[in-house]
Amino acid sequence: LAVARSARIEETTAVGASGRVFDLALAGEDSLGFVGGQYVIVDTGVDLPNGKRAKRAYSIVSGDDDQQRFRVMVKKLPSGPGSSALHAAGAGSTVTFSGPWGKHVVGGTMNGPTLVFATDTGITAAMGLVVGRAFSRLGLDARVVWYVGEGDFVPEALVREHLGAMSEWLVVEPALPVGHPERAAHAAAAARRHVGAPEVAFLSGDGAVVHPLREAILAMGVGEDRVCVESFFNTPARKAP
Ligand SMILES: Cc1cc2nc3c(=O)[nH]c(=O)nc-3n(C[C@H](O)[C@H](O)[C@H](O)COP(=O)(O)OP(=O)(O)OC[C@H]3O[C@@H](n4cnc5c(N)ncnc54)[C@H](O)[C@@H]3O)c2cc1C
Repeated sequence: LAVARSARIEETTAVGASGRVFDLALAGEDSLGFVGGQYVIVDTGVDLPNGKRAKRAYSIVSGDDDQQRFRVMVKKLPSGPGSSALHAAGAGSTVTFSGPWGKHVVGGTMNGPTLVFATDTGITAAMGLVVGRAFSRLGLDARVVWYVGEGDFVPEALVREHLGAMSEWLVVEPALPVGHPERAAHAAAAARRHVGAPEVAFLSGDGAVVHPLREAILAMGVGEDRVCVESFFNTPARKAP
């Protein structure tokens, strides 16, 4: 069962056309207990027409050397209830969440050329991952490829600033729009241009892109324990058991 935790919004800033940065301080306890690449599920306080509460996942972009203060970046989607509610939340207010969750994290068997590939908002999972302690400890030989349309989320300069020394790994590849029939193939070609033969891969963002890319990388003989996927949207429906 998910345990409800809470954090106070210390500061929040609008960035780019649709992004918002939230700096949060954990309330009532000392350690969030996350590792780079994980996310929290925020209770946005909004009740949906179907009677369910809108609970939404947001990746932690800040480094896991600080377990008390952490940062998330949220894109406001047109008529998205959860992201709109969060964008309206000001400094000083409290957010309730569960987590940390997720397996988009460095595993012990990982080494060699590493592809960190993110589409759209998926860059948040990539940011938290590469600034995390495990990533730097393993010294993974990485490229971070961000497949994104111009002005679609937060500015590239902000991502670079956040990545610090790791920003030299970042390349931005202009994306076809979400839903475009050629998007998955176009994105896979962009990934291949930077890391032709990955031995480790972290893929996040559009499920219609990252799931086929995962299959292609597995087909190259990379082990399942070396390919992590975090699908933010367009997540394929689970097959019935
Ligand atoms: C593991 C995980 C981590 C996530 N981390 C982040 C994060 O760090 N920052 C962030 O902004 N969002 C993140 N998301 C997406 C987030 O959880 C919500 O789906 C998003 O904020 C939309 O919620 P909403 O209630 O506003 O709109 P909804 O009504 O839930 O969504 C409207 C529609 O938009 C789709 N959608 C969601 N995100 C996008 C997108 N980027 N581009 C195009 N369509 C989209 C949804 O699938 C849905 O069809 C993450 C999702 C997952 C599963």
